[in-house]
Amino acid sequence: MAHVISDDCVSCGACASTCPVGAISEGDGKYVVDAGTCIDCGACEGGCPTGAIAAE
Ligand code: SF4
Ligand code: SF4
Repeated sequence: MAHVISDDCVSCGACASTCPVGAISEGDGKYVVDAGTCIDCGACEGGCPTGAIAAE
């Protein structure tokens, strides 16, 4: 399991620094979570202004 970022992402970048394992990076048009790195801790969810991050 991993967290995923939907198309509601506006690429503000706020989530990247909240991830303790560095699983979030800028992708093509939105930020993305590397499923193999994410430990499903949920730390990134609350800081997203558009609610684009959720558990898969
Ligand atoms: S905090 Fe939300 S809107 Fe900002 S880059 Fe992350 S997923 Fe996208
Ligand atoms: S759930 Fe935790 S490990 Fe996964 S992307 Fe969010 S902050 Fe990083």
